[in-house]
Amino acid sequence: MRVSKVLILEISDLNTISIECASCGARVLMSLKDVAPPGKRSEIPGKCPSCDDNWQEIRIGVQKLRDTLTWLGKYQVAFHVPKPAAKG
Ligand SMILES: [Zn+2]
Repeated sequence: MRVSKVLILEISDLNTISIECASCGARVLMSLKDVAPPGKRSEIPGKCPSCDDNWQEIRIGVQKLRDTLTWLGKYQVAFHVPKPAAKG
């Protein structure tokens, strides 16, 4: 018998997102509920707070993701994620 372990994440579990700058590695962490819809003023910076790299595309992408997750929240949708093996 083979037993595989997975984490089952519901939409409501996906509440925080981090963005790592591709140029300098700086990381911004934020709550998805603070992400404004596309076209509205957003908590997501338009550029990296560390190196000023342009973050317009990732900002729009996260806004769309937030909208999609909000929409999916009406249904019984869950993500099955492989559980990392315990170390030691
Ligand atoms: Zn940066």
